[in-house]
Amino acid sequence: MVRTIVGANWGDEGKGKITDMLAGDSDIVVRFQGGANAGHTIINDYGRFALHLLPSGVCTPGVVNILGPGVALDIEAFLTELQSLEESGVPAPKILVSERAQVMMPYHVQLDCLEEERLGKNSFGSTKSGIAPFYGDKYQKIGLQLCQLYDAKILREKLLHALDIKNALITNLYHKEPIDAEALIAKMTELAERIRPYVADTDAYLMEAVRSGKNILLEGQLGTLRDPDHGIYPMVTSSSPLAGYAPVGAGVPVWSIKEIIAVTKAYSSCVGAGPFTTELFGDEAEELRRRGGDHGEYGAKTGRPRRVGWFDCVATRYGCEMQGATEAALTNLDVLSYLDEIPVCVAYELDGQRVDRFPVTPKLERCTPVYEKLPGWRTDIRGITSFEALPENARRYVEFLERQIACPIRMVSNGPRREEIIRR
Ligand code: GDP
Repeated sequence: MVRTIVGANWGDEGKGKITDMLAGDSDIVVRFQGGANAGHTIINDYGRFALHLLPSGVCTPGVVNILGPGVALDIEAFLTELQSLEESGVPAPKILVSERAQVMMPYHVQLDCLEEERLGKNSFGSTKSGIAPFYGDKYQKIGLQLCQLYDAKILREKLLHALDIKNALITNLYHKEPIDAEALIAKMTELAERIRPYVADTDAYLMEAVRSGKNILLEGQLGTLRDPDHGIYPMVTSSSPLAGYAPVGAGVPVWSIKEIIAVTKAYSSCVGAGPFTTELFGDEAEELRRRGGDHGEYGAKTGRPRRVGWFDCVATRYGCEMQGATEAALTNLDVLSYLDEIPVCVAYELDGQRVDRFPVTPKLERCTPVYEKLPGWRTDIRGITSFEALPENARRYVEFLERQIACPIRMVSNGPRREEIIRR
């Protein structure tokens, strides 16, 4: 059976925890898009880990972790992350990397940084991991697949061709020193050797696994609203975080996907730029940010303070719809326990009219939230393991959101640890 875990919002919904938890009954966990710009936080017996590129199954013994062809493969980031896991005492995980995965080049990271710097206050709020230049090259067909690194002639030809373009940009637009081709060829050859033990035909491996009925978990990064087509373009990422892309980026047949779990937080949080209708400011924001997540709402990748706000039913309903979610997981419910009343955004006001459909970006910029206030529960709910045992107002809150987002909430997370979960 193949399941997909994806984000219903802007990312950082708590997917890492849910994946880490479900990895326990999975044989295989696959990352299908994005790269080392992700930041999943997982907390388990080995400690607290911010995973960037590795799949969230790496801390579960026996799980095969796969980086599919849709991933942006930063080989150095991969090796560094693996080493830091091993240093934390996690038993060496089993990892396979698709030979079709495209390789992140040092110039992608460099160009990402230079462009964000050039844009100044109009920057995209990129994590500067090279993602946009990387996917640009992939679709411009000047990227390199991992398998091409093992043929010296192809590697040289492709890199020299790419460098003609990159060096023209680097010297003329950004006025920096050009990249030395020989040094880059040597570096990529060396990195290719270091990652060689993990390289595999993951398409064949996964097809066989699907045929033999293995439990496979596909793990998305970011969320619906960062999708290049359906998100808040251009404040989006450069690969699709939608479950519809999961079979492509992972390499499994579309028909094999049986469950799509959209993860959403009991309030909103967002890293990076773009319209964020329910955003809070001042003391109210500071309090929610301080109490959020497992150690405050600060980016797992960048350490940047996350923007926070109340739950947005309009955005989340759309987020679940576009994911094709068969169920939702609501995380961080425990964080709201300090509030007397909890505002929930049930509609937007756009140019004096009430709208309940998530609009295109230029209209979204003009939207203001319409709130309904729900009573809080004012008591610690961590440690509770059944839905019935939650305070009545906490149950009502969950049921209200469930009606609003039109998707069954089958899991409620009431703490950052793996076992802190209520199934319904
Ligand atoms: P991801 O990118 O979707 O995996 O999300 P992150 O891991 O970046 O952000 C989620 C944050 O919430 C992390 O700090 C998690 O440890 C934390 N977290 C996840 N679920 C819960 C929960 O139910 N309660 C609390 N308090 N923290 C949670």
